[in-house]
Amino acid sequence: MKFTPINYTCPGCGAPLKFSPLTGTLRCEFCKREVPIEGEHAPVIEHDLHTALVTLDQAPNEEITKEITCPKCGSSFTLDPYAVSANCPYCGTPAITEFVRDIHPESILPFQVSHKDAQAIFARWIGSLWFAPGELKRLVDTQKSLTGYYLPWWTYDADTTTGYTGQRGDIYYVTVQKRMIVNGEERLVEVQEPRIQWTPVSGQVTRSFDDVTIRASQGLSRKILDALEPWDTSQLVPFDPKYLSGFDAEEYTIGLDNGFEMARVKMDSVIRSDIRLDIGGDQQQILDYHTQYHNTTYKNTLFPLWMTHFTYKGKEYYYAINAQSGRITGERPYSYTKITLLVLSILAVLFFAAFFDQIRERYVENFSNNSVPKTYPAVPPTSADIFRQITDCESNGGVWDYVNEWCER
Ligand SMILES: [Zn+2]
Ligand SMILES: [Zn+2]
Repeated sequence: MKFTPINYTCPGCGAPLKFSPLTGTLRCEFCKREVPIEGEHAPVIEHDLHTALVTLDQAPNEEITKEITCPKCGSSFTLDPYAVSANCPYCGTPAITEFVRDIHPESILPFQVSHKDAQAIFARWIGSLWFAPGELKRLVDTQKSLTGYYLPWWTYDADTTTGYTGQRGDIYYVTVQKRMIVNGEERLVEVQEPRIQWTPVSGQVTRSFDDVTIRASQGLSRKILDALEPWDTSQLVPFDPKYLSGFDAEEYTIGLDNGFEMARVKMDSVIRSDIRLDIGGDQQQILDYHTQYHNTTYKNTLFPLWMTHFTYKGKEYYYAINAQSGRITGERPYSYTKITLLVLSILAVLFFAAFFDQIRERYVENFSNNSVPKTYPAVPPTSADIFRQITDCESNGGVWDYVNEWCER
């Protein structure tokens, strides 16, 4: 299906304008002119979940391939399924299209971490990885650069009331008599032993959840997207396509209903800890509980992230940076050479420690036989002492003489 993309041009030189995380404006890369985004300061609205689930078309949205003709260079290209915004692969001009799914984002977290800062964060992180193969840094530098994406998220609010039954465990101590060997004799000794008293309990806990964030994209692994949390949704602004200019963006591929199921799992772990707190005591058992959700609302929104991936030994590795907070996460390969070297050096240290212990034992033996010459210290050295002296260059000669001498005995 053909789509006519929109883009924004510089009033000064006619070049494409892109959103700049540094200034929060549209900015021309050529003449550096800035055009502010006149956001309406309308509050971000949340919608009733129940109404939406009843009225939404239950039929799955068909996948639409968007065919684009670049307004700048005239090249034709297709967007990935569910993509809304991309740059022309030939001339880099932003191409922003319309949203086609039932629910459109009404808010967005604009990029706050610039491409340059993201690269610095990424380089620092790669440098800090233990056991990463040496080639990793070079690969990352040369193979791929970071791409900025706006990915869809759902947020859910709910007031919950949970009735529960369970057991409260209180620890108390009893005195018991035990047979023990004391000074070589078997005796009856009194000792304190803990016991738990379980009491049946029931009750109710309530909680108001605000903006439980759930990824709405299937594009990247859940592990990576979840690790980018938290997102500060108090900084959401009303959606404006100008924020997408220069970045890739996509629509949701996890539906509103499935998203809410995932949100319930998240809320559930909070509710369970509320119940444990409510039960009190030293230990708790939750036997049964049931949660009612009231005033459940949702919104669809876009969050910014920088991403890259590369292939190492036939496997793909993905990395992402939360472009609001700078938090970074990713999969990483391990260098088996580096791990083997570490294991070998630990074994070497253990071997030397055992070796020094042997020397020390002989010293003690000879010491008690009065065969230690006066020139040696009165107290046998520990293996740590010997090791420290060996690593201390100045005393090396002396220590090796000492070690050799003891080995010859
Ligand atoms: Zn310009
Ligand atoms: Zn183009």
